Amino acid sequence: MSLREFLRPVRIVLVDTALPENIGAAARAMKTMGLSDLALVRPKLFPDQRANALAAGADDVLEQARIADSLADAIGDCVHAVGCTARLRDISLPMFEPAAAAQELVAQTRRGPVALVFGAERTGLTNEDLSRCDAAVHIPTEADFSSLNLAQAVQVLAYCVRGAAMAAQSLPAVPAEQRDDPPATIEQLERMFGHFEEALTDIDFFKGRPYGHLMQRLRRMLHRADLDSREVMILRGILAEAQRMARLAQGAVNK
Ligand code: SAH
Repeated sequence: MSLREFLRPVRIVLVDTALPENIGAAARAMKTMGLSDLALVRPKLFPDQRANALAAGADDVLEQARIADSLADAIGDCVHAVGCTARLRDISLPMFEPAAAAQELVAQTRRGPVALVFGAERTGLTNEDLSRCDAAVHIPTEADFSSLNLAQAVQVLAYCVRGAAMAAQSLPAVPAEQRDDPPATIEQLERMFGHFEEALTDIDFFKGRPYGHLMQRLRRMLHRADLDSREVMILRGILAEAQRMARLAQGAVNK
């Protein structure tokens, strides 16, 4: 596969970006590394001349950028997503350093589109946004000064992705793992997590207790399982059957 083929499926997603300058500088960072798929979730100001000024010739990346209302929309079709975070604490996802995250991302491009997700300048990614991702990546920094400028964080990761793509390209082409069914997309996984929550409520698994933590664990476990779309259907079939039995049992009790 050519370098371009490894890089084409890699999407950069910027969530709630406040400054158009950062969008422009991120586009420039992407273009220098051969990336072109930019998605903007609720950008505060876009399009904007200041973005074009900082893009310094990467206007094509800005022109092709897609705008989304939610992170779910921006990465729904992806088979792998990595959230970029300046924070190290309270992250309930497997955490990687940039080179390792980039290597996995490039490996996953064989299966479909993949995403690197960046948060807003002031607040970063919410825990909810992060929970939609398969993994988190942190650029190692000084412990008490860990927050890079958004576009500079994009540059560092785009550089690592290019490095990983160059390494993958120079390896003999390994045939992609033979699986009969297409990989599950983030959207299919999200629907499945919703179904889990509903079915576990129906069978009274939570017993009225708060279940946020348990759902996090379940998400982490099932992201790790690398499910394909048929496996998602099998799990959802089991959930539907459990719900049916719960309804029957409920009916019997009510009689
Ligand atoms: N104060 C915010 C920092 C936001 S910086 C926070 O606590 O998260 C804007 C974005 O740049 C972050 O959401 C992240 O996607 C990226 N970023 C900044 N520094 C980073 C780092 N050290 N490692 C990985 N991503 C980083």
